[in-house]
Amino acid sequence: MKAAVWHGKKDMRIEDRELRELKDTEVKVKVAWAGICGSDLHEYEHGPITVPVEEKEPLTNDKAPFTFGHEFAGVVEEVGANVKGFKPGDRVAVNPTLTYGNKPEGLDIYDGFAFIGLHTDGGFTEYANVPATNVFHLPEPLTLQDGAVVEPTAVAVQAIKESEMSFGDTVAVFGAGPIGLLTIIAAKAAGATTIIALDLSETRLEKAKDLGATHCINSGDSDPVKEIFEIAQEGVDVSFEVAGVEPTFRQSIEATKPRGMMVIVSIFSKPIEWNPFQLTGKGVRITSSAAYSPSTFQQTIDLMAAGQLKPQGVITDQIELDDIVEKGFEALSNDKSQAKILVELSGEK
Ligand SMILES: [Zn+2]
Repeated sequence: MKAAVWHGKKDMRIEDRELRELKDTEVKVKVAWAGICGSDLHEYEHGPITVPVEEKEPLTNDKAPFTFGHEFAGVVEEVGANVKGFKPGDRVAVNPTLTYGNKPEGLDIYDGFAFIGLHTDGGFTEYANVPATNVFHLPEPLTLQDGAVVEPTAVAVQAIKESEMSFGDTVAVFGAGPIGLLTIIAAKAAGATTIIALDLSETRLEKAKDLGATHCINSGDSDPVKEIFEIAQEGVDVSFEVAGVEPTFRQSIEATKPRGMMVIVSIFSKPIEWNPFQLTGKGVRITSSAAYSPSTFQQTIDLMAAGQLKPQGVITDQIELDDIVEKGFEALSNDKSQAKILVELSGEK
């Protein structure tokens, strides 16, 4: 079957790939739609970052090359002998996170950590065999396209939970890429009244405004911290660092009020130089967020099905699998108006 296979930096090939055998505990999913993630893009532009190339990833017992794609939804085609709760025809979203499963639910993500689609075969293809524990029912009225954005939306929902944000809070989001935009949507759904988006791209800031940001600051044009203090005199209650660079790391702490929370959501591609005295002086608390727990994944589906969380506005294009390099990865590298690009597999709604 045709698949987008990662071979190395700037080397994503559309090629024929065999589906490995279905295990008794797995579900075979006919993929309908799959989103391209920022981490896929990192691996395409600068990889390998986390992709195993020399030695097999211990959790997946696999190494590159393999099929990419970890944000996908589709229809159950077949179930393994020991699978309960799923049958052919069920519409499902896939939670791509794999762990050893030895820790309590909320800490599960810190117990090993591998991704279907980054550390073993994923969803940029016709079929994917995935553990039944990673498969979640998609209730009405959610479409299979909606299903493909559950995964990145769950990242934002987890970040909101880690932030301990509450009704009426003021929030700043540093970085208006796909996860920043989804964090804005999730913060609004969770009751933030003032949501300040910061980015260097006007196009991205316009998108942020469309999706719920109440204020937009171009960090290139002015002193972003000063601007934030003009909107929130004491500083914001919560800031989200979704850009992953040294200046925004400092700014997000500086812009937060004493005992407020700064949440690191981004993946820093390189170390930064920073003096912790900034925290001591400001009284800001820092926390981090990594992916999502299985219950956050389910809550994200429930919030979307209830209409309380509407992430669909982040989708900026739909493309064919054959075009994934040019219209997918290259477009995301070069065109700031792109946020979430979905690849059409079966294309079923
Ligand atoms: Zn992702």
